[in-house]
Amino acid sequence: MLKLTDVTVRFGAFQALNNINIEVEEGELVVLLGANGAGKSTIFNAISGLSKPTVGDIRFLGESVKGNSPDRMVKVGVVQCPEGKKLFPDMTVQQNLMMGGFVHRGKKTQLKNSLEEVYELFGILRDKKDDSAGSLSGGQQQMLAIGRALMSKPKLIMLDEPSIGLAPLIVEQMFSIIQKINQSGTTVLLAEQNANAALKIADRGYVIENGAVVLKGSSAELFNNDAIRKAYIGA
Ligand code: ATP
Repeated sequence: MLKLTDVTVRFGAFQALNNINIEVEEGELVVLLGANGAGKSTIFNAISGLSKPTVGDIRFLGESVKGNSPDRMVKVGVVQCPEGKKLFPDMTVQQNLMMGGFVHRGKKTQLKNSLEEVYELFGILRDKKDDSAGSLSGGQQQMLAIGRALMSKPKLIMLDEPSIGLAPLIVEQMFSIIQKINQSGTTVLLAEQNANAALKIADRGYVIENGAVVLKGSSAELFNNDAIRKAYIGA
């Protein structure tokens, strides 16, 4: 479904990504593991059109999408839920969700259906639909950010560190929601530092260090890898 071939991204003299090769099949849940600054967000930005690869190609559903604008990527079915959520804190929960549904502009029924699906998944967002986004708890804001990304009914959703800063109980809920999103038919690419939780729900994973893929494998292979256990699982 998604294929990155030798993707390289430079910021001036700094090479943030170096020949990245990543594939995601339709229906999969794939995790990118890596420490702060490893390059996970830059990989997402390259896919979503926010940063341009200097070298390499990105294909989605058989077509080259390298150089597409971010809103074009949303239209072809790829949406990114950024780290730090990037909500509009003074707008209501529902207004934030509507912003995510811009691809359905002029199609009232589709917009209504999308909103209903998001409220089905996140009941708390329905309860708080008229509250300002800024008044929500950290976990609720993360749910709103994911909900907003789902409003466009993406084929592939990229979630950047959805568990960051959340209490352990909420992290557990968050991962079970991500699994549910995947099981309902949306392909998921997840960037995480919480390897333990992410590998429990992922099919496969890639380990990113200094802008390069240093290891890849099934979740079980990565979970049982000594270096991964030492660096990311702490066992
Ligand atoms: P984090 O979780 O901290 O975001 P990450 O794995 O997502 O980590 P990136 O944000 O992709 O890492 O950053 C990779 C490297 O590229 C870092 O060294 C970062 O400082 C650098 N970088 C990212 N964006 C830019 C930019 N616009 N200009 C210059 N350097 C950048």
